[in-house]
Amino acid sequence: MNIGIDAGGTLVKAAYMHNHSLKFKRFPISRLGDAASWINGFEKAKICMTGGKAALLKSMINYKVAEMVEFEATCDGVRYLLAKNDGSEKSYILTNVGTGTSIHHIDHNKQQRLGGTGVGGGTIMGLSQLLTGLTDYEAIVSLAAKGVRDRIDLKVSHIYEGAEPPLPGDITASNFGNILPQGSTDPLTKEDRLASVIGLVGETVAVVSVLAAGHYGVSSIIYIGSSFVRNDPLKEVVESYTKLGGASPVFPEHGEYSGAIGALLSL
Ligand code: ATP
Ligand code: MG
Repeated sequence: MNIGIDAGGTLVKAAYMHNHSLKFKRFPISRLGDAASWINGFEKAKICMTGGKAALLKSMINYKVAEMVEFEATCDGVRYLLAKNDGSEKSYILTNVGTGTSIHHIDHNKQQRLGGTGVGGGTIMGLSQLLTGLTDYEAIVSLAAKGVRDRIDLKVSHIYEGAEPPLPGDITASNFGNILPQGSTDPLTKEDRLASVIGLVGETVAVVSVLAAGHYGVSSIIYIGSSFVRNDPLKEVVESYTKLGGASPVFPEHGEYSGAIGALLSL
């Protein structure tokens, strides 16, 4: 069995071939021991690992393990997924919204990491916990989908009240900039707080990606990372801000397994 593993800051992702089809498996980093037992349970295995926790996981594995640079594995995996989905993109911005966010420029076979932002999926988890006490990803996302951001985020139209704004009135002028005056008795709901957290993360990653796309003269932005898994609120914000910035967003299916796929392909 050949297995590609991407052990990230939050989740361990695995990709392997079974009966000629690509399969995936995922473990939270808090259960690294379970990931190791799953790998050690195979009778024969060829393994390549990538990601920040690869060295730690490697130390728990009975097999010889190859290692690969995370950005190369991720970019190789994305190329594979795009080709599989008949994607025509050859030159694009790749934005990986993992625990943190990493931004790359891909031009055919070349990849360059442009930088990143600490605003990412970890921010969704951490800020959501601080503002609501919730720690479960699925619960955070499903409540966020019901929230309204208007009373927390300040829109351009709030500032240009009664006047014609020079920008679309609907865009955010200040994330969290519209909180209620002190002493107000109208409490903000968990749903509203969570919607604004996701708005902050989505707008930040999209705006930074759009600036990179403009700089490199490319129109497609490929978004990957587990932060988009069953997370329509985040996808919607990223999609609308990317389009507003004149670029085309793409969310490849299984994009969160790109690093694991790239590691698998190297075997
Ligand atoms: P990094 O690449 O930054 O080291 P990572 O590879 O572990 O981190 P991803 O797996 O791509 O990062 O994404 C992690 C994010 O995905 C979390 O911060 C959270 O927002 C989201 N997420 C999706 N599903 C889950 C889950 N079941 N548990 C926790 N977080 C989840
Ligand atoms: Mg990662």
